[in-house]
Amino acid sequence: MLKLESPIEELPGVGEKRKKLLEREGFKKIEDLLYYFPFRYEKTGWIQPISQLEEEKAEIVGIVKSRNFSIRGRYFIFEIELQDHSGKARAVWFNQRYLNKVIFPGTRLYLKGKVQKHNLPTFLNPEFKLLKKSEELTPSVIPIYERVKSLTSGILHGLIRKALEITEIEENLPEAIIKKYYLPSRKESLKGIHCPSPFSSLEELNNFQTPFHNRIRYEEAFAFEASLLYLRKKHSSVRKPRKYFPSPHFVQMLKEVFPFELTEDQKKALDEIFSDLRSQRPMRRLLQGEVGSGKTAVAVLSALLPISNGFQVAFMVPTEILAEQHARRFSAILEKWGIKTVLFTGGVRGKVRRKNIEAIESGEAKLIIGTHALFYEGINFKNLAYVIVDEQQRFGVSQRARLYEKGEKVDFLLMTATPIPRTLALTLFSDLEVSTLKTMPSGRRKVRTKVLKISQFREVLPFIEELLRSNSQGIAVFPVIEKSEKLKVVDLERGSRRLQELLPEFRVKTVHGKMNSSEKEKIVKEFEKGEIDLLVATTVVEVGLDIEKAGFIMVFNAERFGLAQLHQLRGRVGRAGQQAYCFLILGKNAGEKAYSRVKFLESCSDGFEIAKKDLELRGPGSAVGKQQWGIPEFALLHPFKDISILEQAKKDAQEILISNPSAVSNIIKRIEEEKITLG
Ligand code: ADP
Ligand code: MG
Repeated sequence: MLKLESPIEELPGVGEKRKKLLEREGFKKIEDLLYYFPFRYEKTGWIQPISQLEEEKAEIVGIVKSRNFSIRGRYFIFEIELQDHSGKARAVWFNQRYLNKVIFPGTRLYLKGKVQKHNLPTFLNPEFKLLKKSEELTPSVIPIYERVKSLTSGILHGLIRKALEITEIEENLPEAIIKKYYLPSRKESLKGIHCPSPFSSLEELNNFQTPFHNRIRYEEAFAFEASLLYLRKKHSSVRKPRKYFPSPHFVQMLKEVFPFELTEDQKKALDEIFSDLRSQRPMRRLLQGEVGSGKTAVAVLSALLPISNGFQVAFMVPTEILAEQHARRFSAILEKWGIKTVLFTGGVRGKVRRKNIEAIESGEAKLIIGTHALFYEGINFKNLAYVIVDEQQRFGVSQRARLYEKGEKVDFLLMTATPIPRTLALTLFSDLEVSTLKTMPSGRRKVRTKVLKISQFREVLPFIEELLRSNSQGIAVFPVIEKSEKLKVVDLERGSRRLQELLPEFRVKTVHGKMNSSEKEKIVKEFEKGEIDLLVATTVVEVGLDIEKAGFIMVFNAERFGLAQLHQLRGRVGRAGQQAYCFLILGKNAGEKAYSRVKFLESCSDGFEIAKKDLELRGPGSAVGKQQWGIPEFALLHPFKDISILEQAKKDAQEILISNPSAVSNIIKRIEEEKITLG
């Protein structure tokens, strides 16, 4: 017998080549395969009499009466007539010469395909099967899987069926839960989803609403909530070994560091953070807010409390560019107050690096700004007390877990620019407290947004020239898909050359993830100083760049982005209160659906509404907008539509974690194995 944790290569039918392919696509264990679910079901073996055929997909069985082949131009056409007890039908195949040797008058034949009604009902290129004289077809329901590279639905189904046969599938939900909801077992459910009974309702299956689907949905919700609550519980008994006192110096800094008055939401969030920082328990708080709502400002101010008490604060951001920008800004602001800020990223090398490490280890550096490298490089902070993680939507649950492990007694503030409604946030981030910035600093104007097709790009060119001439800077974004990043950078460079050709009198330059950090920094600095008019970039700009004069942004192949991500991108412009513009440009191959999806952003500029829409549109397995939320990619559970299941699971998990904590150990194991990562 195999186990769910057995490596995929132990499954018969998985040789070296398939193993590699499957592993590359994320199927490492048998479990991964068994949690890959069909997206559709079809009936098969439901034979209809020919006389009752309609113009839709159908299956028939008949005896071939006559056959004929002919050649028309480049086409080889094979044509038959066949008959059952009720009438006659026709079938035609193109360019399948071998049929000539397979199908003869008298052959008993099964056909499946779409019917067209001419003088006879006609099948074009149908699937077929030769039948023996008395062979009966048994009706069944077959699951259809999204293919994985060269592995077709049929192959996948074969592998999964085999795995179900020979794998020991233990229950992972607590018994009390199974009883409470009369749930089918885990094993029954996986069987019921992958190999449904021929008599199950096709409608129920196709809506993923069988008891088996429902059970797995609940299981996903429970595993998720139990894991988060477990994380929370694990550190609830931890006490911090430090106390903070608000010195007069600190109070003065708070007032004077930034030249603006905080919004009400900022004040409230800051109060919540201060109260957490001063409490005995380590803070685990999420600060969510619209792009440009002033999260970074809140974070910096909150850091002043530990810093003024002599402690160190680390500020982690997802990209080197952003780290450099923050470091430059904050050191300029904070140096005046005697606070030393240093930058620490993979790109800082040599002497500077050694000097910075020294400053961190001696405790001289108070605010340390860096990428995630900061945590994984084994630096010995003198007295790190507080970690701020910016743009945490890139972080999954297990990254959060690992983070906490690094600093059990440290306070954590996670920030995200894709805010979601509070109830949703409390359920999806059960390990965290939540603060939200809703109001924007006054004087901000909505970014005017226009969706257009690439073929219409020239129509907006004069307008763009006008903007550039009137001293506004712009950003052009091209998508980069990580797996083939190399390839897409070519796209970016080609796009950049093309834009330079179209805008000859302006200075166009590119920045992308493949550049080394000093190159990147140089370009961003030039852009900040106004020495570049149009910055052509991959989504490195998405996360946090803050360039005041940037007045417009164009996103190419906008259909490749999630709505929330596009909304973030346009948040990069108009930050100084000027009227800004966003052009969302759809690629040649974008269809109507993509158009209307992206179009939503023309009329809506409320991040919460956009988040809702984005989550609604995300069907099972959809590629758009992944990795935007810090929420795992569930196989069946929909993080928004199924919120009531999540809420129920959270309650259940809370009860069980108190009454019988060992009952969840099986299911939260997954968090350590990173099953729940992504995000
Ligand atoms: P976020 O991180 O939420 O995207 P930032 O903190 O970067 O937003 O703020 C965006 C811009 O608005 C920055 O230039 C910042 O200095 C400015 N800002 C922040 N808070 C205020 C405020 N209360 N009033 C005016 N400007 C503000
Ligand atoms: Mg920010």
